[in-house]
Amino acid sequence: MLTDRFNRIIDYIRISVTDRCNLRCKYCVEDQFPFIPHDEILTYEEIIRFVRICAGLGVSKIRLTGGEPLARKGIPFLIREIAAIEGIRDIGLTTNGVYLGRQLADLKAAGLKRVNISLDSLKKERFAYITGVDAFDEVLRSIKMSVHAGLDPVKINTVIIQGFNDDEILDFAKLAKTRNVEIRFIEFMPFGDSGLWHSSRIITSQEIEDRIRTLYELESSSNPHKGPAKMFDIKEGLGRIGFISPVSSHICHECNRIRLTSRGAIKPCLFGDEEYDVKKMFRENATDEEISNFIINTVKTKPERKAEMGQIRKCQRNLRHIGG
Ligand code: SAM
Repeated sequence: MLTDRFNRIIDYIRISVTDRCNLRCKYCVEDQFPFIPHDEILTYEEIIRFVRICAGLGVSKIRLTGGEPLARKGIPFLIREIAAIEGIRDIGLTTNGVYLGRQLADLKAAGLKRVNISLDSLKKERFAYITGVDAFDEVLRSIKMSVHAGLDPVKINTVIIQGFNDDEILDFAKLAKTRNVEIRFIEFMPFGDSGLWHSSRIITSQEIEDRIRTLYELESSSNPHKGPAKMFDIKEGLGRIGFISPVSSHICHECNRIRLTSRGAIKPCLFGDEEYDVKKMFRENATDEEISNFIINTVKTKPERKAEMGQIRKCQRNLRHIGG
């Protein structure tokens, strides 16, 4: 079992399979951003080997993210290979949903169990303004298809930003009431190249919850996936609401994950700048045992917790590299 110095069991890895993205979300990237050269991105063989070694250490849960994971060709192949690794029980995907509908059947057949689709506006024009692409209808279609295909749960990741989309909080709550989806409100974190992030733009989970309670009755509910979200059922609703509060509260004691960046580095803590290059080991023909020891030692560097709220600082890397 992989454990850190604070007795947290690490059984979950989030993998950024590419830094590329088909959207240009204003709060995440600049209009033009440089891509990592192709040969610096981990190959599928390297990712599969990494997962196999981690599975041997007790990791059972994988999430593919990016960049936009579906902007990379062959994700169904990658999922099928990962699903076949002994010990891997759960494979999820975080996607903007634009290409999801057309690949859904293949992804599901390959072994995809769960999907998180990012959506920051329910208004078609605003969606185009935020993302730079007129693809709202595709994303909505992907959400409907995912529910219909029985992916469970279908989660919608929504980043609420002051003066940007906070007027839509109740609309998202209504969606959770009327559809079998889980809306997960995520606090605006100090990442991004766009210059948009500022602490004054954060709306905390508590503020969002308070606004929702003005119209909807929320009942505290458990989180079957042990994740960091604080979950609620909506009275007489089909879906659920979750709050992820990486900024306003410490969920570090529940942290069960590490990240693998698109460049092939292990990132023990989302908010730390420390990264440990495992790609170099693959490419210098390290043995499985050497890589396994490297992973064990890297996990031991996981900090107990991120910095205090008052010390929030801009993180160096963009989420598209780290894997949001
Ligand atoms: N392209 C995929 C997607 O859109 O879901 C995966 C990568 S994207 C970086 C993952 C998630 O990170 C998205 O839900 C996005 O909204 C979120 N994100 C990006 N920048 C963020 C920030 N500064 N604070 C909070 N969430 C952010």
